[in-house]
Amino acid sequence: MSSRLKIALQKKGRLAEESFELLRKIGLNCITNGQYLVLKCPDFPADVILLRDDDIPAFVARGSADLGIVGQNVIRESGKRVKEVMPLGFGVCRLAVAVPRNSKYKTLRSLKNSVIATEYPNSTKKFFREKKIPIKLAELSGSAEIAPEMGVADVIADIVDTGTTLEAHGLVALEPPIFRSEAVLVSNPKLSAEKKKLLDDLIARIEAVQAAGNKKYVMLNCREKDLKKIEKLMPALEAPTILPLAKKGEFALQSVATEKEFWDALPKLKKAGAKDILLLNVEKIVP
Ligand code: ATP
Ligand code: MG
Repeated sequence: MSSRLKIALQKKGRLAEESFELLRKIGLNCITNGQYLVLKCPDFPADVILLRDDDIPAFVARGSADLGIVGQNVIRESGKRVKEVMPLGFGVCRLAVAVPRNSKYKTLRSLKNSVIATEYPNSTKKFFREKKIPIKLAELSGSAEIAPEMGVADVIADIVDTGTTLEAHGLVALEPPIFRSEAVLVSNPKLSAEKKKLLDDLIARIEAVQAAGNKKYVMLNCREKDLKKIEKLMPALEAPTILPLAKKGEFALQSVATEKEFWDALPKLKKAGAKDILLLNVEKIVP
């Protein structure tokens, strides 16, 4: 059996770019090959399969792919058995019921016997069944937000991020949402020992990328007489690195900080005599 991991990604859409970017950051640069939908990764035993996001849970559940990156909303709706390995922090959204502004629908209870247009019939049905609120469904495969104004349904259940699309159609989301969602790494529940090992390697790499988060590497120079003061002002993971420069009486300080910590400290650092200040991206942090 092949010991190359097959990783299913969304071919095109909201998750595609960030999924590829994550693979690139963990050292999996896959080679695109025209319209071919299976991409080889030369530096890691993995191949990437490009799919519609709706098909990813089924591919991973039956082992046609070992891993996948997909929204939790799609997994829940599919009902497929896949293992959620780790959340990835992008594709954040929620599945919510949205109602026409100024309508009689103000609470979940008020939706009794209403018609709900949605691309998420299974999730919506389950949610209202658990709340014991009877509803009717109008299943659509997209553009649910126009259903109320077209008279197709009373309200909708749809994926919401900022709410601007809803607003443009005179709709407001009710609280609480049906569920919240983000992109997750999923795996087939029965990976071989060899593939599990490869997955553990990938998890450690993703953790290093996540640890770097929005961290920056801060470098600056100063005179010896200002060193103590600047050392105290310098935001740092632990303690800053201090190195003497070739020029006598001058020092370099280096540390890792969030971008906000850097901007907050900058005026004070400059006032204390910091100069030649550099801010560099940090791609990975391995503890
Ligand atoms: P595909 O062609 O692969 O089926 P799609 O049209 O179903 O794509 P996209 O719109 O690309 O899906 O969204 C992919 C995922 O991005 C969603 O399933 C959801 O997890 C996430 N997402 C985050 N924010 C939003 C949003 N505002 N609207 C829709 N999806 C969002
Ligand atoms: Mg889709």
